[in-house]
Amino acid sequence: REHAEISLKDIDQIAKSSFPLCMRHLFEKLREDHHLKHGGRMQLGLFLKGVGLKLDDALAFWRAEFSRKVGAERFDKEYAYGIRHNYGKEGKRTDYTPYSCQKIISSAPGVGDHHGCPYRHFSEENLRAALTRMGVGNRPLEDVIDKVRNRHYQLACTLTFEAVHGSSCDAGVNHPNQYYNDSQRILES
Ligand code: SF4
Repeated sequence: REHAEISLKDIDQIAKSSFPLCMRHLFEKLREDHHLKHGGRMQLGLFLKGVGLKLDDALAFWRAEFSRKVGAERFDKEYAYGIRHNYGKEGKRTDYTPYSCQKIISSAPGVGDHHGCPYRHFSEENLRAALTRMGVGNRPLEDVIDKVRNRHYQLACTLTFEAVHGSSCDAGVNHPNQYYNDSQRILES
């Protein structure tokens, strides 16, 4: 079940229902800007691989967006390699692992970057707006902000999970792909 394939036609729906905020943000930015910088391509790309997006679909997905910004030719020349690389089809042929929360939280996104953990890297104002858009109500939202102020980012994400799924997440969130798998399990049951 954990590596069930997902299909491209479902990806927007699934992003809305089951991606943690870090990936939802990258996904939305990619759809909006038709571009992501390196850190974002790695964080989202490896997550999508973990979610079960096959290489061909991943190439089609990134190509469709980047083509609108840089053109298909430049995508094929400059960006397709990185995606095949993530799937272990280039270079050392390592099958790279999706990033854990710890790794994402300790990253240092710069100006124009959209990777990182929103609980850690967003301003409080932006975080509040993003959580409201996710459907987190007032009371749980204040609890999430409280965790963030105490630098408990994964607990903040866990509370978000519980608020949007109406179901507890006893293990806590420690990996974006775990968040995704737990979400799918609840939504499918
Ligand atoms: Fe993503 Fe983990 Fe941060 Fe949640 S706690 S937004 S899954 S990095």
